[in-house]
Amino acid sequence: MSTDVILSAKRISKSYTSTSGDKKNLQVLQNLDVSIEKGSIHAVVGSSGSGKSTLLHILGGLDRPDQGSVHWGDQLIGDLSSNQLAEKRNEFLGFVFQFHHLLPEFSALENVAMPALIKGMSLEDAQERALHLLDQFGVAERSEHKPTQLSGGEQQRVSMARALMNKPQIILADEPTGNLDDKNTNLILDLLFDLREKENISILLITHEMNIASRSDVVHELKNGILVSQKS
Ligand code: ADP
Ligand code: MG
Repeated sequence: MSTDVILSAKRISKSYTSTSGDKKNLQVLQNLDVSIEKGSIHAVVGSSGSGKSTLLHILGGLDRPDQGSVHWGDQLIGDLSSNQLAEKRNEFLGFVFQFHHLLPEFSALENVAMPALIKGMSLEDAQERALHLLDQFGVAERSEHKPTQLSGGEQQRVSMARALMNKPQIILADEPTGNLDDKNTNLILDLLFDLREKENISILLITHEMNIASRSDVVHELKNGILVSQKS
């Protein structure tokens, strides 16, 4: 395996038992392969229900495939206990979801600092880095606000800051702009694409918008359980 590959999945299959009572299995992913190199931006497009979120959750170790393997660097994640997996996930990758998933009872600063505190960073250092990230994303003046006191665009910028807190190798983003207007969409995307320029971070981005996909290095269409991939 090339040392440049930061995340890879081989022969991934996943099915769900139908909830409608007809006992039919819904095969969502079928022998799917994907490989993401350091510093590259990959977009995943596909119709609603095609399995994009399922794939992202499996790549991020939030869900397990029925068959197949996922590697983070050289680490086969199926070999990790759930504690080891959680620990490794916290430092290896950052998630950004369509709905921010910030903890409502904590301030923006506390939400952003949290992953580093879990990892054992001192409170002072964590707060300093969190504030630096919030500043970089233009929301430092919102640091003491709770998530409900923030606009949708601000919530997503705070989520991005949180995802970056532990200097991950890769960001996995599930329709991060799906809930935003054009202005905020462009802002978030510029921030994401900047990250690759500045920090050589890899990004896997699920999106509905072809103009976003076209700015990526590789576009994958998820269809019938597999990825049809095209380099741009
Ligand atoms: P997408 O993100 O592309 O819209 P998802 O990965 O969320 O698609 O879902 C793919 C399919 O799997 C959908 O038909 C969805 O209803 C189904 N599905 C997702 N999660 C579950 C689950 N936990 N149990 C049963 N079916 C599920
Ligand atoms: Mg989805």
